Amino acid sequence: MAGSEAAWQAANMGVQVIIHEMRPKVETFAHRTGNLAEMVCSNSFRSDDDEQNAVGLLHWEMRAANGLIMQMAGRHRLPAGGALAVDRDQFSESVTNALHDHPNVTVEYGEITELPEHGHWIIATGPLTSQGLGAAISAETGADALAFFDAIAPIVYAESVDMNVAWLQSRYDKGETEEEQKAYLNCPMTKPQYEAFIDALLAADKTEFHEGETAGYFDGCLPIEVMAERGRETLRHGPMKPVGLTNTHAPENKAYAVVQLRRDNALGTLYNIVGFQTKMKYGAQTDVFRMIPGLQNASFARLGGIHRNTFLHSPTLLDDQMRLKSRPHIRFAGQITGVEGYVESSAMGLLAGRFAAAEILGKTLPTAPQDSAMGALIHHITGGAEAKTFQPMNVNFGLFRPVDGLKGGRRGRKDRYKAYTDRAKEAFSEWLADQS
Ligand SMILES: Cc1cc2nc3c(=O)[nH]c(=O)nc-3n(C[C@H](O)[C@H](O)[C@H](O)COP(=O)(O)OP(=O)(O)OC[C@H]3O[C@@H](n4cnc5c(N)ncnc54)[C@H](O)[C@@H]3O)c2cc1C
Repeated sequence: MAGSEAAWQAANMGVQVIIHEMRPKVETFAHRTGNLAEMVCSNSFRSDDDEQNAVGLLHWEMRAANGLIMQMAGRHRLPAGGALAVDRDQFSESVTNALHDHPNVTVEYGEITELPEHGHWIIATGPLTSQGLGAAISAETGADALAFFDAIAPIVYAESVDMNVAWLQSRYDKGETEEEQKAYLNCPMTKPQYEAFIDALLAADKTEFHEGETAGYFDGCLPIEVMAERGRETLRHGPMKPVGLTNTHAPENKAYAVVQLRRDNALGTLYNIVGFQTKMKYGAQTDVFRMIPGLQNASFARLGGIHRNTFLHSPTLLDDQMRLKSRPHIRFAGQITGVEGYVESSAMGLLAGRFAAAEILGKTLPTAPQDSAMGALIHHITGGAEAKTFQPMNVNFGLFRPVDGLKGGRRGRKDRYKAYTDRAKEAFSEWLADQS
């Protein structure tokens, strides 16, 4: 996805591009063909609503920037209500053909196993980056800076947490400043609430690992439902332990268990539920997590998951032009940069392709404006995210700077989203216009 879009953008700017694709010579467990831009699972690019949905806005921006992925998705669209679903074979064949037919593009089939020493490179090898290249990247970045699994705890919009129930406090009030002492949102549970929560967790629908996906996974990040299976009290002695916390709404009531949420971005608009990585199906997650007092009306910026996924610690490794700081002739794009999803990956490819081509042509291209969807995403992965807890991210409105003077909460949501998307379109159009 990202590599195809990057190549298309750079080639259209007049730069000669070579795509290196290891398939079909070297396979992954998820891909089935040797085509470029193969959709490995769902055939949907999600919502196409560019006024009320952040993914739809990303579609809009990619179309405005003459993106290949959106162009071919539009051509092979299938009926799917408000979603942009496609015929996956026709889609990836047409992306492959468009790139093969482009006079500035050459496709070479074969695996790259080393970080190249010279030239301009974009590494967009995705969640299933081959082992050899993964080892070369770890050798450069340090083993801790390249992950092979994501263990994503659900992320909640801060404004949707009921602060009449939850309170702000770090365990044992730890920290030098008041901000640190109040770094966590706490949601208390009584014993009956905890017991009902464990029952729901055990009964919930779960997804299975793909074949070949589990190796090396169980070391550090157990899903909460697996912890619950090990014993009904396990969570209460783990991520839900109630110690060192006093409920400011009812100081005399000692909670039986506490769910903690930690700030997930510098803007303070997103919070992740600490230690709550899960393999529950998405529908089950929303039902089970809304049983947590304080989260009964929670809106989720993204749900939890555990997947095989190769991704960099981008907040420390990449600059805002997606260059590897230690080797600036190499850029990264796509899922390996810590975004998640076909659309987000392609969007990061679009940016990387333009940045690389501009550099080759001796121009300076400013990074995408922070108020656009692409800009919000790149800003998040290269700086806005909490570096310590960095995990892959979908595009969502929690990444956007608030628009002044608009109502918070559910009531004002429609107007707020419209204001975000209007502002984004204007900022992105200006950024594009400056390049023409
Ligand atoms: C099993 C699975 C299911 C997923 N399901 C969805 C979904 O339903 N919806 C969604 O939006 N996202 C999904 N994703 C997440 C993600 O958005 C997609 O994987 C997306 O394709 C990522 O785009 P990308 O361009 O970063 O990587 P890819 O599209 O995977 O492209 C990377 C390319 O690099 C090649 N490559 C890897 N290593 C080398 C090497 N060393 N040398 C040369 N070539 C190499 C690969 O063969 C591949 O063609 C899924 C991911 C996985 C693993």
